[in-house]
Amino acid sequence: MSFAKGGERKLEKVSVIETPSYDQTVVNAAVARHFQLHGMEEKLHPGMKVLVKPNLLLKRRPEEFTTTHPTVVEAVIEALKGYGVTDIVIADSPGGLYTRVQLAAIYRASGMEDVARRQGVALNLETGSGEVSAPGARCCARFTLIDPVRRADMVVSVGKVKTHGMTGLSGGVKNLFGCIPGLMKPELHCQFPEKGSFGHMLVDLCECVRPGFTVMDGVEAMEGDGPSGGTMRRVGLTFAAENPYALDLGLCRLMGLDESSVPTIAAAKERGLSGGYGEGMEIVGDFTDIAPIPGYQKPRSASVDFSAHVPRMFRRPVAWLEKKASPKPVIRRQGCIGCGKCAESCPQKTIAIVEKKARIDYSRCIKCFCCHEMCPVKTIDIKRNLILHR
Ligand code: SF4
Ligand code: SF4
Repeated sequence: MSFAKGGERKLEKVSVIETPSYDQTVVNAAVARHFQLHGMEEKLHPGMKVLVKPNLLLKRRPEEFTTTHPTVVEAVIEALKGYGVTDIVIADSPGGLYTRVQLAAIYRASGMEDVARRQGVALNLETGSGEVSAPGARCCARFTLIDPVRRADMVVSVGKVKTHGMTGLSGGVKNLFGCIPGLMKPELHCQFPEKGSFGHMLVDLCECVRPGFTVMDGVEAMEGDGPSGGTMRRVGLTFAAENPYALDLGLCRLMGLDESSVPTIAAAKERGLSGGYGEGMEIVGDFTDIAPIPGYQKPRSASVDFSAHVPRMFRRPVAWLEKKASPKPVIRRQGCIGCGKCAESCPQKTIAIVEKKARIDYSRCIKCFCCHEMCPVKTIDIKRNLILHR
């Protein structure tokens, strides 16, 4: 497995460090070890422009375990400064509109504003973007990226360990989706509606952005219906890698997910960018292996793939049944406040707000679960056809 194309394949390191709390001293020590274990002193130097890219998704407070915890972002900045890097900007393009007002509100709620002030680093409020070509792309040869990504000498991605309704897990590769400005993200969902093509698009994006280092906050992770509607699982670990594909294999193992069900992992494997867990990679730090967490809750939208396991003559009807049984977003009308965030983020424009309540026209729904992800009051459930699942 190698993130660099061609040349000799090196063993990809994934570091796992016990990080029992969000106490700043504890997190600083863990993150400093991650940087050391990956020899980051050789890759960082004064004068570099570094973008620190958290996962901010939507306006949530740190204790809602949806966004990267500010102590982890602050520890990354401390580590960068320790290597003489001072030109640092924190930036993300969360879901919804990419406007100055939205960004300011999300930075404030997530604790990023305080981190930037304490550390004296820039917080991106500009909303410019531009096109960048994606070399060797499988399905998306050009991406529009937010300006801080285009300007950075190195992107340090600082994500949150979470399950994800569409992609199984929200790891190092998926965190880069926030390099795409605002509502261009639903456009990409529309362009690549199937999980397989969406996974390849995310790998194209990863190859385009090429993050220099990825740190994942798994102190308080999310299980169940992530990336915004799940429940908190205290994992007490942080993870890091130079290679985001290797990192995601480690997280997939941690959550007990089937690698073939995570479209980014399947796409990276298909393209020879990664193997399976343990192939061409080593676990370093406090552990030499990653064990699945017993009972880690999967998203209810996790795909059912029986058709590959039945005789060919039965595959069609089984595939039909699978489609019928596949989960869909269902709005609990009572809880809906009519804010329109779901409609705004729906790539198919298939949600209407009628009498201050959201309503989905399922005939055009591609089951991307963006609406579920963006609902601020968690009133969109993911439901299966129960009769078919008895
Ligand atoms: S209704 Fe929800 S799941 Fe369906 S296409 Fe729109 S955002 Fe995606
Ligand atoms: S379902 Fe959620 S996001 Fe959609 S309008 Fe209602 S409260 Fe807002």
